[in-house]
Amino acid sequence: MIKDNMMPDFPLEGKYVAMLAPSFVVEFEYPSIVWQLKDLGFDKVVELTFGAKMINREYHKQLKNSKKLIIASPCPGVTENIKAKFPQYLENLAKIDSPVEATAKICRKIYPGYKTVFISPCNYKKIEAENSRKIDHVIDYGQLRELLKKYNLKKKKKKTNFDSFYNNYTKIFPISGGLGKTAHLKGIIKEDEILVLEGVGPLFEFLKNPDPKIRFLDALFCYGGCVGGPCVSSKLGINQRKKKVLEYLDRAKKEDIPELKKGTIERAKGIKFTH
Ligand code: SF4
Repeated sequence: MIKDNMMPDFPLEGKYVAMLAPSFVVEFEYPSIVWQLKDLGFDKVVELTFGAKMINREYHKQLKNSKKLIIASPCPGVTENIKAKFPQYLENLAKIDSPVEATAKICRKIYPGYKTVFISPCNYKKIEAENSRKIDHVIDYGQLRELLKKYNLKKKKKKTNFDSFYNNYTKIFPISGGLGKTAHLKGIIKEDEILVLEGVGPLFEFLKNPDPKIRFLDALFCYGGCVGGPCVSSKLGINQRKKKVLEYLDRAKKEDIPELKKGTIERAKGIKFTH
């Protein structure tokens, strides 16, 4: 296994919370993965969906009050390339946390004393974590696959769901355009002022020749979005991967989630999701 300095040491010692991005469904099975992570030593397993909901609220606010171009910042592939190659757009990058950073902040509040570990579809998230004081560790999908194999952690048929602050509709975040679709932007920005892009080519093309009409650039670095992340090993094509995320959303909507586990805004009270 390729271990790096962002990975925690296994077996885990102390309290750890695993934070899963909803793209996990193209790589691992739900709900088995929740049990497998617990067998690996995580006390808590949460999904990024509530953090995504909280940052959606910030995008809504900022787009309502701004006339200049805002570039969505949840994808470090986009933000790191803008910093390195297109610094003229730095002032356009939304100063809003990514769903990972937002979720790590919420975890710090709800689970004090826990170390936060992001389970990631890409290595770019390791750069983000290195610059964060809230994300302690990152394990990419490839590393997790190897850990499950090493410790012989099989899939389980038992029923379960995530530990806390659950949210449904933001499960489509890993699909390109997921942010714009879930941030309730209708009425505050016209449809033709939003541009959804996926993949490095179209992103660079826009940054070199921007369309002045666009007020919101909702771009993800990988083709298809995070479902096309470099650490996803699935043999499925991009459309089938997107379908898996949508099926997961449908399935989750039917789940009977206890009120206490839901992500209510009250639970994130006092946390700032901008920087
Ligand atoms: S789109 Fe790709 S680079 Fe961006 S966060 Fe998702 S997996 Fe990482």
